[in-house]
Amino acid sequence: MADPLVRYRHKRDFTKTPEPRGSRRKRAAQALRYVIQKHAARRLHYDFRLALGGVLKSWAVPKGPSLDPEVKRLAVEVEDHPLEYADFEGVILEHEYGGGTVLLWDRGRWFPEGDPEKGLKKGHLKFRLEGKKLKGVWTLVRTRQQTGEERRNWLLIKHSDTEARPATQGDILVERPD
Ligand code: MN
Repeated sequence: MADPLVRYRHKRDFTKTPEPRGSRRKRAAQALRYVIQKHAARRLHYDFRLALGGVLKSWAVPKGPSLDPEVKRLAVEVEDHPLEYADFEGVILEHEYGGGTVLLWDRGRWFPEGDPEKGLKKGHLKFRLEGKKLKGVWTLVRTRQQTGEERRNWLLIKHSDTEARPATQGDILVERPD
């Protein structure tokens, strides 16, 4: 099988970045992990990652998640990251890829509804989160009208359940910044 982390490694110089290179060993134990890293790069964004198939499936969410089911947040699919990345916090040097501070904003487990591999291909992934901050059911939906390499835009949407909350009742990104 081709190494799923080729793109990840290609972008980085591991003699200069504190980020993990990723090994094949740690995989099984970290199945179902979920993490969000708040990444103060040139533009602040939230990296949303779900462990699947031995890697972290990853999306960059410029505005971060919202608990309001009416609010759809753009989530740009990025390269798979190694599972070890779920523990990474630190400073990436300014001139390196993704330079800036990475803070673990939320972590926990995720539970796919249905076959997650199929969901990823189809562009519709429904799952439950058991994080410290985010809980309940969420969906990631690939947006339409995209072709080929451009099919990287998804929307992250909170499902209506007891963990949902309208935006008028506050913003979790503001209330719990760290
Ligand atoms: Mn990032």
